Amino acid sequence: MFEKILIANRGEIALRIQRACRELGIKTVVVHSEADREAKYVRLADESVCIGPAPSRESYLNMPAIISAAEVTDSEAIHPGYGFLSENADFADRVEKSGFVFIGPRPDTIRLMGDKVSAKRAMIEAGVPVVPGSEGALPDDPQEIIRVAREVGYPVIIKAAGGGGGRGMRVVYTEAALLNAVTMTRSEAGAAFNNPEVYMEKFLENPRHIEIQVLADGGRNAVWLGERDCSMQRRHQKVIEEAPAPGVARRLIERIGDRCADACRKMGYRGAGTFEFLYENGEFYFIEMNTRIQVEHPVTELITGIDLVQQQILIAAGEKFALRQRDVAFKGHAIECRINAEDPFRFVPSPGRITNWHTPGGPGVRIDSHAFNGYFVPPNYDSMIAKVITYGDTRDQALARMRIALSEMVVEGISTNIPLHRELLQDARFIEGGTSIHYLENKLAQRP
Ligand code: ADP
Repeated sequence: MFEKILIANRGEIALRIQRACRELGIKTVVVHSEADREAKYVRLADESVCIGPAPSRESYLNMPAIISAAEVTDSEAIHPGYGFLSENADFADRVEKSGFVFIGPRPDTIRLMGDKVSAKRAMIEAGVPVVPGSEGALPDDPQEIIRVAREVGYPVIIKAAGGGGGRGMRVVYTEAALLNAVTMTRSEAGAAFNNPEVYMEKFLENPRHIEIQVLADGGRNAVWLGERDCSMQRRHQKVIEEAPAPGVARRLIERIGDRCADACRKMGYRGAGTFEFLYENGEFYFIEMNTRIQVEHPVTELITGIDLVQQQILIAAGEKFALRQRDVAFKGHAIECRINAEDPFRFVPSPGRITNWHTPGGPGVRIDSHAFNGYFVPPNYDSMIAKVITYGDTRDQALARMRIALSEMVVEGISTNIPLHRELLQDARFIEGGTSIHYLENKLAQRP
């Protein structure tokens, strides 16, 4: 087992990883920017290294600074968390070439999955169902693009092969708009992701977003740990996640889960990962794979009792991965609300000092947060300041506990989206379960 791990991230996930390390008896090194000097996880870490000024590209994305910090602190492994460098194959490569363990899949796997065209091809080969669309990247020939779109059938969505974070996508409803959309998506993708390649998919009009969590040892052992329903989204950003997905037949989940575990064995996948699907009319359609721990991982932890971050560390350390599919049992229901420092209905970020902070507690309530009374939310990063996760024997109980938790929660000095969550938890359609990925935006559009 490792003696010391460097955490190359910030915010709640830095604290989450630190807690997993402490439970495993591993010392932690936290790297941080000048803006995060006062952070809770910096104070709790065994060691900390300031790696640069506030802007991410000079600190949390600064590969040489992170690797030097690992060297001077004698760390053995680097946990990248989510976001920042977590899905950067070049970083994983540099970490390993510098003699450290990268807590995640092999660089080649990250590269394969990071390009959505190659990821889709790999899934087709592994027998995972994908959204119908172009075979690989779109060609240059306009006539050929028009032909592919006719074959797929309108509406279609043009997506950047290198896209991520909900960016680099354009929906096209008519042939007249097609070629222009392809050109625009290509030039945006070239600028944003350094890769102008785009591909085409059928645009599913009313799908849900359901994803499968996996853990695999890089060899023959791979298990799936159930699904998460992340359909409550705004601008492709998840707002509420839950497990299990309401109203989806267990045999469908088992079938797709088995396919995902098979795909991991075929790829020699190592570590934790998520297969993201759109789900419509009883069918799953793969859209992408995330080769890292996800924000919403706690809902899976609560219904399986398995600590995913500890498992990532154990697998990376080469400990025998003893978990078998038959050992994975699901119990109860869990829901997560992402609490962001932002105006709840205009969605503009609201950084600043928290003047009063009180988090809820009680049975079935878990809070993952790095914030505290007097904490200054820096303007430089993602606006998420906490995750409130509730668990219940049933979905109704988890929902009731979430309502109570959010009614107890106090955050003053900055705006948060707690009012939006409170409203959604009273929403009849959400309470019924099974809303599509467009539900929240449609609801917001109808607000007076
Ligand atoms: P990213 O890597 O940017 O998150 P994804 O491929 O995971 O991109 O897609 C993000 C979101 O975009 C999905 O959750 C869904 O809301 C929407 N989306 C993507 N592909 C389609 C599609 N073929 N039909 C309908 N919606 C889609």
